[in-house]
Amino acid sequence: MPEKHYGSARMEHKQDLINNTKFNNIPFKEIIDYLNNKLGTSYREKNKKTMSLITARFKDGYNVEDFKEVIDIKYIDWINDTKNKKYLRPETLFGNKFDSYLNQSKLNKTENKSSMKSNFCEKCGSTLLNGKCPDC
Ligand SMILES: [Zn+2]
Repeated sequence: MPEKHYGSARMEHKQDLINNTKFNNIPFKEIIDYLNNKLGTSYREKNKKTMSLITARFKDGYNVEDFKEVIDIKYIDWINDTKNKKYLRPETLFGNKFDSYLNQSKLNKTENKSSMKSNFCEKCGSTLLNGKCPDC
């Protein structure tokens, strides 16, 4: 089927483009803007230390969504914590603990998911919608 082959070749080409531009095209601004919006700060995406940390994490294989997740989870963790609040900065967030921060977020999500799993209808086992069974 020539059409199908054409389609997958295009996909591969697109993937190549993504891989080639990966480290030349790191969205420093998007990440720092996200952090600044969240914290009300004015960190600069052109800061050399910040750029090198973000680049290092991208080389580890992380993406923009991972950065936003780490910012979100540590924001919730630290914003009301007078002792740790000062660590809500690029140097700490994007440093060598990035991986454990990110997994902290994944762990919290798993907890949410498993608590949702108990939301099943006792009669038919369907997932409840807003506490009501859609099938009964
Ligand atoms: Zn039911």
